[in-house]
Amino acid sequence: MVRPFMPQLVYFEPKALEYPLGEELFKKFRDKDIEIRYTTSHNQVRNLPGENDFQRYRMAKSTLVVGLRKTLKFDTSKPSAEYAIPFATGCMGHCHYCYLQTTMGNKPYIRTYVNVEEILESAQQYMEERAPEITRFEASCTSDIVGIDHLTHTLKRAIEYFGKTDLGRLRFVTKFNNVDHLLDAKHNGRTRFRFSMNADYVIKYFEPGTSRLHERIEAAGKVAKAGYPLGFIIAPIYLFDGWQEGYKKLFEQLSAELAEDAKEGITFELIQHRFTKPAKRVIEKNYPMTKLELDEEKRRYKWGKYGIGKYIYPKEEETEMKDTLFNYIQTYFPKGKIEYFT
Ligand code: SF4
Repeated sequence: MVRPFMPQLVYFEPKALEYPLGEELFKKFRDKDIEIRYTTSHNQVRNLPGENDFQRYRMAKSTLVVGLRKTLKFDTSKPSAEYAIPFATGCMGHCHYCYLQTTMGNKPYIRTYVNVEEILESAQQYMEERAPEITRFEASCTSDIVGIDHLTHTLKRAIEYFGKTDLGRLRFVTKFNNVDHLLDAKHNGRTRFRFSMNADYVIKYFEPGTSRLHERIEAAGKVAKAGYPLGFIIAPIYLFDGWQEGYKKLFEQLSAELAEDAKEGITFELIQHRFTKPAKRVIEKNYPMTKLELDEEKRRYKWGKYGIGKYIYPKEEETEMKDTLFNYIQTYFPKGKIEYFT
């Protein structure tokens, strides 16, 4: 069982203390005797404790920087949403294949932004620009937002904010089960709450520092009872000895947890495991003992943007994987909706 995240070290950007959330977080960490340091900008966060890169990387994942989001221009987030809404970056989890390892480079610490009001105002402008079209915002492009929300309640605020809008929709995905404070949020059906699920084997060996499968399933049950539109991202789909049985069990357990009416309209996003050469290098550095299969010879090369191609499963394995999982979903969730397989 993974306990809800509590940082070992917290940095504050001085301006963050001018915001109610900044002040609240400051008191919270001070009362818990957590080491607090100050920094004029997160870029100055250096000299984290640790004797080598390996230790400093682990320390960074236990370090929280409380600051302001300066860029209020949102990135696009196709295909699942129009925009990425930035409430936090970084994550305390240690999933071996996490894409943040390459995108965050040498800044793997977690940042939370206290100027939530300004971020939401910016979202409002994006919605107005697109009116009368619906605008979807993805809150988990650069972090696992649920993983720190028990500390900040920013996500809860955003859920309630979008609950009141007609043209805004919020979505996010998580591997964490600390959802209790979100259950009474007035979501008004405007937020799609997705869980990242996988076969028990994959979670056990490749996703340390995140909630275990049974905890995620239980959390999904609570979220369904709270009336949220629910979704599952099955990713990365990974072929291991006994994968058919492993994934079957996953769908069986999910189905057993959810009431029949809650199964209607559940969305599924399916993503097979892939890696790039740069990602492989980082994974081998950060998780040298990993048993994750990263052998280019066993994969198929797919050209990608900026000349960085990825290694995905060979066609035959891909087809078998896709057919098997589609079949499980049709069996256990006939009223579910498969959004894509990639
Ligand atoms: Fe990365 Fe998600 Fe794992 Fe966090 S929980 S380390 S964001 S894959």
